[in-house]
Amino acid sequence: NNMIDYKNNKPFVEGVAIEDIAASYPTPLYIYSQKKIEDKYKKLKNAFNAEIFYAVKANSNQAIIKLMSRLGAGADVVSVGELERAIMAGVNPKKIIFEGIGKTNKDIAFAISNNIRLINVESIDEIQRINKVAKENNKNVDIGIRLNPNIDGQTIDKISTGKKTDKFGIDTDKLQEIFQALENAKYVNLIGISCHVGSQIFNIKVFSEIFIKMKTNAQLFLDKGYLIKHVDLGGGIGVTYRDKDDELDLELIKLELDKCFENVPYQLSFEPGRYLVANAGILVTSVVTIKNNGGINFLITDAGMHSLIRPALYQAHHDIEVVDKSNSELITYSVAGPICESSDILDKNITLPKQKVGNLLLIKDTGAYGKVMASNYNSRGLPVEILVNNNFFQKIHQPLTSQEFIKQDIIPEWLD
Ligand code: PLP
Repeated sequence: NNMIDYKNNKPFVEGVAIEDIAASYPTPLYIYSQKKIEDKYKKLKNAFNAEIFYAVKANSNQAIIKLMSRLGAGADVVSVGELERAIMAGVNPKKIIFEGIGKTNKDIAFAISNNIRLINVESIDEIQRINKVAKENNKNVDIGIRLNPNIDGQTIDKISTGKKTDKFGIDTDKLQEIFQALENAKYVNLIGISCHVGSQIFNIKVFSEIFIKMKTNAQLFLDKGYLIKHVDLGGGIGVTYRDKDDELDLELIKLELDKCFENVPYQLSFEPGRYLVANAGILVTSVVTIKNNGGINFLITDAGMHSLIRPALYQAHHDIEVVDKSNSELITYSVAGPICESSDILDKNITLPKQKVGNLLLIKDTGAYGKVMASNYNSRGLPVEILVNNNFFQKIHQPLTSQEFIKQDIIPEWLD
């Protein structure tokens, strides 16, 4: 799980000292390990006989998308912005799938004009709207249907997407309505079905349930005469956020996969995000101040919910490691960000060697849903992102300075 190596008690990523990076760029900053991403991709690709579409939402930096594309992955995008990123990063449009529950006609037209692999529709009305836009553009458009298979991903509620009551996909009880809508949509070709039941799935029985339900549904479409070429089994492959936890065993998923899909006439695919990048990133932060309030020792850091919102939003856990371990005295700390919100806590009651102002802390496993969810809240800047590759490091994102983003506001003349 760990992308950090220690030499003489100093942390390194792929031969680069983290302290050297932190001396070159202001904290908080994200560091990603290219090798770790490559290893995760290869592990997944070798385990499953399936196409991989990287879920760009997990980390949409173009350098990361490009790396995935060079490894052979396609891209799973959920907005025009992500689609533009994937195209700019050089992903072959025929390896891009476009999902998302709120596509406007303008979004659909943009996807059609870029000749992508397919648009995954999430509501019946979307079939009708794609047909209309396709007709206006005099094109036939390939689509997939994202089904809602009514499966409990047995993950935290805020990242569950496959239950009947979740807003995603089309209820599998509505197959007759789907068939009817497709019948009337002459400019639309149905070539695939997909689902995604949530993130951080660890229970093999959940994967098995997904596979069985998707196979059954694919057969229903085939029986109706639709040439289903692609069955996409979603993302959600769980990762560990604690070094002490065991990783998910991909072989167990593979066993279920092979058992379920023997000799099927379609290609299988997955659309993972977190699995490929979460463990390949860390957020480096500096201790700004240290204080004791009501008996609690707070380490106040320059990273907070504006740089990594997962702990505040989902009560997500990230292991935190210190760089300076020289003090043998151990202290129980709560690590909190600088944002004016009580929820801006990165972790509570963790025992660390006694720290000083200016020390570096490493917030681990932050390669997915980290920087992409960062904000300028409290008018603070976004973190720099660094990619490390075999003894080299390079900045892969330069955020706007506060002067630059403040300038984006427009004060109306009547207030002058
Ligand atoms: N596909 C879809 C449709 C999603 O909504 C998501 C995440 O929300 C993913 C794939 C990626 O999920 P994960 O990062 O857990 O693999």
